[in-house]
Amino acid sequence: MTLDTKKLLEIDRNSVFHASTHLKQYAHGEIPGRIITGAQGIRIIDSTGIELIDAFAGLYCVNIGYGRVEMAEAIYEQAKKLAYYHTYVGHTNEALIELSDRIIKMAPAGMSKVYYGMSGSDANETQLKLVWYYNNVLGRPQKKKIISRDRGYHGSSIASGSMTGLPLFHAHFDLPLERIKHTIAPVYYRRPDNNMSEAEFSRYCAAELEKMILAEGPDTVAAMIGEPVLGTGGIVPPPEGYWSEIKQVLDKYDILLIADEVVCGFGRLGSDFGSTHYDMKPDLMTIAKGLTSAYQPLSGVIVGDKVWQVLEQGTDDWGAIGHGYTYSGHPMGAAAALCNLDIIARENLTENARDTGAYLQQRMNETFAEHPLVGESRGVGLLHALEFSSNKAERTHFDPALKVGPQIAAACLEQGLIARAMPHGDILGFAPPLVVNKDEIDDIVERTKKAVNQVTDKLISSKDWKG
Ligand code: PLP
Repeated sequence: MTLDTKKLLEIDRNSVFHASTHLKQYAHGEIPGRIITGAQGIRIIDSTGIELIDAFAGLYCVNIGYGRVEMAEAIYEQAKKLAYYHTYVGHTNEALIELSDRIIKMAPAGMSKVYYGMSGSDANETQLKLVWYYNNVLGRPQKKKIISRDRGYHGSSIASGSMTGLPLFHAHFDLPLERIKHTIAPVYYRRPDNNMSEAEFSRYCAAELEKMILAEGPDTVAAMIGEPVLGTGGIVPPPEGYWSEIKQVLDKYDILLIADEVVCGFGRLGSDFGSTHYDMKPDLMTIAKGLTSAYQPLSGVIVGDKVWQVLEQGTDDWGAIGHGYTYSGHPMGAAAALCNLDIIARENLTENARDTGAYLQQRMNETFAEHPLVGESRGVGLLHALEFSSNKAERTHFDPALKVGPQIAAACLEQGLIARAMPHGDILGFAPPLVVNKDEIDDIVERTKKAVNQVTDKLISSKDWKG
């Protein structure tokens, strides 16, 4: 480490409050820092010259890959022309108009308008307010509960953190909010009965949802929110038929469906949206991450016709809607999104996610499905997870104190590879930029194999595991 790096990290430890970090251990130097100084394609480089393959695209967001000069130029040109003006009371900008028209045309049929924010969390916060407002307009003030899912991830603000179904995001923050409930996660690997088929498990999940709705009272439940593919909760594609079973239950009780497309939207599954991939037919959609490939912070709530009509009615009754962010519809964000969508279309990145994604699934499965440490190898498109288990047949968990997932992520780093130890269970996640090619997939799989074998040997030799 150069002196400069050492010195800068010391300043960092003294001044930066890092996200999702053990604050004391970092402040006291027990967790190493890393200064990222540059990035190109699927690789990042740090201040000591170490180059790493980023098989998680930042936080599954840098979909077009790093170092796109074209993106920098689009943002620069917009900044020169109009860096900012607000979007209150009909003020708008050209980039925003073009972007919104484009998103509505890309979105599933029936989508009407886009409200913009800066992050997935604030967009889901908006979702909750819109759903509450909607039921107030309809004269159903008691219909306000939101059903999310265990292991769902929707952000870390008050409302979105409540909708998130991971204990880490609730404990010690007095969350979740009372109106937010969690139904079971559609994780086939954890099905209650080994003999259940995927379709039977989907019906079971829908029956559990219906039980919850009936227990809460259908006239108190406003909406359900779900990621098309569970992401941060472990990268779990839905079992066969899941979304159509769920949608039937929701329709029966006049409950809205919010598709959280923050990870799945804009190509990751090999389709424009997860909603279309799984035919979810949502009433509202949340977008962020892949919208700009993280070159600018931008998120959106896509509002379907059914909800939009009611929102309009509300403003007729009560005047202008009391919801607005200073940076909503930021022109630089919109310019970045337009350039990003151009690149995705021109370079056929959604098709690449489908084809190279199928190759990723095949290579991972043939390498790891039979591996003694791997309970399940699963994924869709350019999303993949390896879930580690202390007993493959019984699907048992390792003692969390062994930190098997983080150990494997650390071993991957030694191989020059970033894969993400997911915050729930011993699960290693992969979500490379959509520009990844098959040779790079081979490289990612080979490095992962070395890391998994290294930790397997270590666990056996330290007698932490019998193998
Ligand atoms: N929704 C989903 C599905 C996400 O994966 C995330 C972040 O990972 C969010 C919402 C929150 O987005 P942000 O971190 O931009 O607030």
